[in-house]
Amino acid sequence: MIQLVLFGKPGAGKGTQAEFLKETYGLRHLSTGDLFRHHMKNGTPLGLLAQSYMDQGALVPDQVTIDMLEEAVEQSPEAQGFIFDGFPRTAAQAQALDAFLAGKNLSVSATIALEANDEELLVRLLERGKVSGRADDQDAEKIQIRFDEYNQKTAPLREYYQAQNKFYSVDGIGAIEDVKQRIAEVIANLK
Ligand code: AMP
Repeated sequence: MIQLVLFGKPGAGKGTQAEFLKETYGLRHLSTGDLFRHHMKNGTPLGLLAQSYMDQGALVPDQVTIDMLEEAVEQSPEAQGFIFDGFPRTAAQAQALDAFLAGKNLSVSATIALEANDEELLVRLLERGKVSGRADDQDAEKIQIRFDEYNQKTAPLREYYQAQNKFYSVDGIGAIEDVKQRIAEVIANLK
């Protein structure tokens, strides 16, 4: 069983690469952003709460996010392993994930970071916003807030996973196929 954390700023390609990883390794893809958007679309109380943060480019509070993620894992008892996409994004979430997996005799196998610079990410997100209609992808100011949230709260997780020897950095710039190949090499070399 492998448990992968996909790490990277908004627009780095986590969702795109998760699709490939899911097929190739038979893993269940869990994106907290997608889960929140699903709740928003269905107008659930959780969706309404999440929307007030997401529309501003801010992170949804930790406990709400952790509870939703754990519930999604529990709902897939048959899964061969998970791809955590967009989770954890804070130290509290990373600790909660470790504790939750440990309770199932599991642990994060690897954290794969897709690296790309802000200029490239801004262009990608604005392009995606035209197609997806996502409010948080259409406004450069909100995108900047998401980058700031990432730098403040998520970037420090690099050290958290490095301390566990689980952090792998992958160049996220270039053709989707090339990035796939780079990720596949990391996974092939996992012990
Ligand atoms: P994403 O689709 O991953 O870019 O996430 C879109 C938005 O959903 C983020 O800007 C946050 O508002 C919210 N979100 C997604 N994942 C998390 C998380 N792990 N913690 C807090 N908020 C999150």
